[in-house]
Formats: sequence, structure tokens, C-alpha cells
Amino acid sequence: MITLIRNARVLSPEPLGIRDVLIAGDRIAAIENQVELAGNSVEFIDAEGRWLMPGFVDALTHPCGGGGEGGFGNRTRELEAGDFVAGGVTTPVGALGTDAVTRSLEVLYGQVMKLRSRGLSARMFSGSYRVPPNTLTGDVVRDLVLIEPVIGVGELAISDHRSSHPSAEELRRVASDVHLGGTLSGKGGTLLLHLGDGNERLDLVEDILASSDLPRRLFYPTHCNRNPGLLVQAMEHAKKGGFIDFTVSTTPELIAAGEVPALEALRSSIEAGAPRENLTLSSDAGGSLPNYVDGELKGLAEARPSALLDLLREAVSSQDEAPADVIAALTRNPAEALQLARKGRIEPGADADLLLLDPLATQLTDVFCLGRRLMRDGQILTT
Ligand code: ZN
Repeated sequence: MITLIRNARVLSPEPLGIRDVLIAGDRIAAIENQVELAGNSVEFIDAEGRWLMPGFVDALTHPCGGGGEGGFGNRTRELEAGDFVAGGVTTPVGALGTDAVTRSLEVLYGQVMKLRSRGLSARMFSGSYRVPPNTLTGDVVRDLVLIEPVIGVGELAISDHRSSHPSAEELRRVASDVHLGGTLSGKGGTLLLHLGDGNERLDLVEDILASSDLPRRLFYPTHCNRNPGLLVQAMEHAKKGGFIDFTVSTTPELIAAGEVPALEALRSSIEAGAPRENLTLSSDAGGSLPNYVDGELKGLAEARPSALLDLLREAVSSQDEAPADVIAALTRNPAEALQLARKGRIEPGADADLLLLDPLATQLTDVFCLGRRLMRDGQILTT
């Protein structure tokens, strides 16, 4: 299958100007001023006036749903491929969450493989909030080596009243296993850390880094915009070479309780000197957005993949041009953090995971994943 996208304004995420982009099979074959091609077997798309950017790499999603934190009544639903396509997410990374009792890694694996069969380039984390991490094969290293979609452990909770309050020794053991499994499998290995509102913040990570030779990039904290104090500490992690993730989905209650809006967190991190290529944005889709007041659960909303596209629109509306740092934080940067070499960029040889948007990102019109068209003229083609 050969597709030629003509006259698109390419954001690779760096702006490349107006280009023709040739898709051959599941990869990007060429990016030229003009590609000359004819024949009935070629699909031509006139993208004049539209933006072409990589599909979003969403480092934290809950395809099996989340919640249950207020009892069974507030479990959130499973996510379907169409939910991700509508939000421009072509690489969702699935994780369990607080509840690894009534949801299992086996169910998550099944859900991730279902998303793949519907055209997405899904991945997953082994483990859950707790230590020792639950696994598919009985061992984190074996999960990474033997189970193809597994790219690390996450989201493992620290500094949170819902965590298992791991000791430095316990967390170091998990990190070492992720590192070894990532090395043996060639996947790199990522330990995605859920950060709560506790006062410990990233202290545990700094303790482990000070007392071991594990690489800093292994530790990938998320929800770093949860409060201003955590944000400042996370910026230091980024300045020293780590990746940090901001959660886009939010509620007015969470903002009122001190959460820093993701766009503000991104911009203030860059202003504070954190390397822009180490900053990422994720949706936490499918996860619950609990509203705790003095430790008591008062309400629950559900995070959606479309939060990422909403944030992009918000960024565009405040500057009226393609916001390169935001697009990079949705595409290339998380791909780098997760060591997905062919994701998150538009270049020859990269996977053909692409989004076409109307100018100023008002409307997502077309989505490709691994060369397969999953949205055409705003119409979702998968379920
Ligand atoms: Zn979390």
C-alpha cells in the first residue's frame, strides 16, 4: 500500500515547511519538496493548508479502565481503539493502576492486543501501583524479555497514600529488574512512577540514584504537575537528564487543590531551564480523577485520550501558530523517554503514524497508524 500526502505543512515535530510525504507499507519512505508518482495503486491525499504531525505517544493510559477507589460503583469503563483515534493517539501505553485485584495484567494484555488488532501501535507496562510488582510470567525481567508489548513497569506508586510505600531497597530491586530486562530485550526499559501528593516526592529516586549506578533515565515520573513543590523537584530531575511527565487530564477541583495545569507546567519548566526535549505530556486516559478532601473521596471523573488534542488546541489559541514544544511533548519526547525509536517523528524510516489537522489544529481530519488509515475526513474507520 502506497500513500502520497501532498503539500502538507510538516511538523516533524520541527517545522519542515510544505512537503510531500510518501508512505510505503507501515513506514515513511520519503519527505520531499515534491514527490513525482503516478499509478492506480497509489492513494493521493491533498493536504494543502493542513498540518501533518506524528501520532501522539501517550505514555500513560488505562485501556482496562481505572477507578474503584470509592468502591465498585465508580470503576471506569474500558477504552476502545476509536477513543484513542479520536484523540490522535496512535501509541497508547497501557497500565493497570490502583486496582490490580479486579483487573489483571492478563486482561490488560488482552486489551492491548485488541487495540493492536484494530490498528493501533499499543504497548503496555508490567506491574501496578504496588511492590512487589505483579507480572505475567512471575518475574519482571522475564516479562520484558518474553512478552513483546511490555516495555517496562508502571505505574508504580510512590509518595502517595494509595501506594505500598516501598522502601529504597524494594524500589531499587524493581528498577534493577527493569534495567536488566530492558537490556536483555533491547527495549531499554522504563520504570514509570506514579507520584502522589505525599511529602517524600522524588526523594526515594534520588536516594537510589546516589547509591547505585542505575541510569537516571530509567526513572520516569508522571503526574509531576500535581503540586508546585513536586514540579520544582521534577524540573531538577529533568535538568540532570531524566524525563518527566505532566498529566493533561484534570478537573476544576484538582486545579483548586493546587495542581498546576499541564501547559503551564510545561512552559514554566522550559523557562526554569529544564531541557525541553525531556518534557512529556500524557492523558492518563481511562483513569479516574478522584477528588479527595482531607483524605476522603468526594467524587470521581474519568480521563479521556482527547485531553491531549484539547491541550494542543489551547496552546495554539494562545499563540496562533504551531507550538513546537507542545507537539514535541506529545510525540518525539515520550517516544524518546520510552525508547521507541521509530515513533514520534516524521522522517524516512519512521513508522507511518501520522495526524492531519486543519490549520490551527481546529479539527483532526485524518489518522494513520503503521500506514493504515484509521480516520478519513473526520470519520473514524476503526472500532
Ligand atoms: Zn497515576
